Amino acid sequence: MRVGIVGGGIVGLFTSYYLLRRGVNVTIIDTDPAGGRASENNAGFIVSTASKPRLSLSLLARAVLGFQAPVRVSLARLVRNARWFLKVSRSYGYGDDIIAKIARRSLDLYIEFLSSEGIDVDLVRGVISAFKKWEDAVMLAKSIGGRVLDERDLRDHGYIGLGGGVYVEEDLSINPLKLYWGLRKRVEDLGARVVIDEVRRIRVDEKGVVVIVGKGSTEHDYIVISAGSRCGEICRSIGYNPMVEPARGIVILHRTKRAGLISSPALLEDYGVAVAQHGSELLRVTGFFELIGHRVKIDRRLTGWLIGIARKHVKNYGEAEPYTVRMGFRPCSADLLPVIGRIPSYKNIYIATGLCRLGITMAPIAGKIVSSMILGESPPMDQEILSAISPARFGGRKVQAL
Ligand SMILES: Cc1cc2nc3c(=O)[nH]c(=O)nc-3n(C[C@H](O)[C@H](O)[C@H](O)COP(=O)(O)OP(=O)(O)OC[C@H]3O[C@@H](n4cnc5c(N)ncnc54)[C@H](O)[C@@H]3O)c2cc1C
Repeated sequence: MRVGIVGGGIVGLFTSYYLLRRGVNVTIIDTDPAGGRASENNAGFIVSTASKPRLSLSLLARAVLGFQAPVRVSLARLVRNARWFLKVSRSYGYGDDIIAKIARRSLDLYIEFLSSEGIDVDLVRGVISAFKKWEDAVMLAKSIGGRVLDERDLRDHGYIGLGGGVYVEEDLSINPLKLYWGLRKRVEDLGARVVIDEVRRIRVDEKGVVVIVGKGSTEHDYIVISAGSRCGEICRSIGYNPMVEPARGIVILHRTKRAGLISSPALLEDYGVAVAQHGSELLRVTGFFELIGHRVKIDRRLTGWLIGIARKHVKNYGEAEPYTVRMGFRPCSADLLPVIGRIPSYKNIYIATGLCRLGITMAPIAGKIVSSMILGESPPMDQEILSAISPARFGGRKVQAL
């Protein structure tokens, strides 16, 4: 069986990994973008306790009008993709339980994967959700569990100016660059062929699925479209719209000279800013959820704001020196739930995207689900959840299937 993976981000790589381990012939087609991909430029938290972003209509309206950190919305984007914004606001309050179940299952797969493959990802166990107000931490702990921390505990972990936090021991933090390139090497060692080119179109004919790239084409029995925030453009040629909108996030990498500037990574919940240290050399500060299309220019006000938050709340921030700013585009569907499964009307075209702000966390389970479907096995997830994340919820044109 020949499977083409269109887009080799973390989702495409985990899908390849599970297929290769079953002896499938896998070709990954990816542009290898110079500026990196979301799977390299993110906070690196693997969390079973997270929820969907809270994008109510009033928050979106405030975000258009001004600076509503961490969410920013451009008016041009809102007008251009009004249907997505309307659907997303209507999905407010729906699906957190689905996300929690998927994330929980994925965390187990990570533990299995990391212990069996032995890839060094600068793994840290335990993640803090920190708040300015202690009461907010208590409220969160009531819904997700975890240990409540007070101001003094947070100071011991390396954070100041915060009233309370929740420490969840089972959540993990990794260095996303090490995870991405470690997994990429592993799938290549397992026999994946990697084609560096841009996918332009997809066609189905009697030979299978033909993927048209810049310099020719490749043929497959099945394909998985896992091109992150670019899935919509790729799916256009087959008449399907996964309704995926990019949400830009910003990453500032800092050089450090010693380990332990912070003793646990934290999400500073009031700002949506994440702080993590990898080994003794790297501090990562990430933030923003910008619905502004695939814009690549970064306003200095944004980096200044992120640095300001880190300086205010990381006790030893003075020992870190920012050296590069990167960005990633989270692939967000119109109900902020994943889009995983077979594309309606096609027997041999699958999609795995829409993992939004939890794509690192949920990539193993996304890969496991879609690989099981291709192998004709039952996916390791309840039918109810598979229906909630099915590509069929966004329709699809009636096309003659192979
Ligand atoms: C700032 C930030 C912080 C985040 N923090 C976390 C976190 O702490 N925890 C968490 O779980 N998630 C986090 N995320 C979300 C996570 O990074 C993403 O959901 C995830 O990386 C998406 O993976 P992907 O494989 O779907 O997409 P991508 O990583 O975007 O990969 C898509 C791939 O498709 C390729 N591609 C696109 N178009 C084409 C084409 N036409 N032809 C060929 N190839 C193509 C690209 O080159 C790319 O390699 C964060 C994201 C950001 C931006």
